[in-house]
Amino acid sequence: MSKEQEEIKTDKGISYEEPTELTPNNVVYYSNTYKQLKALDAEGKWKTYAIRLKAQRFLRENCIEYVKKSESKDGVGHYICKPIKGYNSTTYYIKSLPNREFECSCQFHQRVVKKQEIPGLICSHVLALKLMLKIWNWNKRKDKELYPENYK
Ligand SMILES: [Zn+2]
Repeated sequence: MSKEQEEIKTDKGISYEEPTELTPNNVVYYSNTYKQLKALDAEGKWKTYAIRLKAQRFLRENCIEYVKKSESKDGVGHYICKPIKGYNSTTYYIKSLPNREFECSCQFHQRVVKKQEIPGLICSHVLALKLMLKIWNWNKRKDKELYPENYK
């Protein structure tokens, strides 16, 4: 059993079964990144409720996309968080860093997160991306388990 599965089992008690599909609604229960961010609230280090709420909204509205090398201006693949009509109007650019972290073009990331004064603090766009990656990876893994014949 992987470390991740063990942690889920602990959280959910003994009668536990993994969902076959993660969605914007249930992914938060399976994301360590989300849990760490939530813990910052409890520890009184940073109020992260709005960040978590926004991230889930970006997820529900399908705002996270991958821009391939060939389609990006800088010749490097990156992610974007598209705006939600009537809510915000900026597209944020998110690039991968070598340590499996991400750098976002938003002001909050550039002014606060980058200073790394609060470990675990990330912006809503990076949280949305990490949750989206979790959903994509999880659902692909489950699909492979359920329909191995499609992956031969
Ligand atoms: Zn951001």
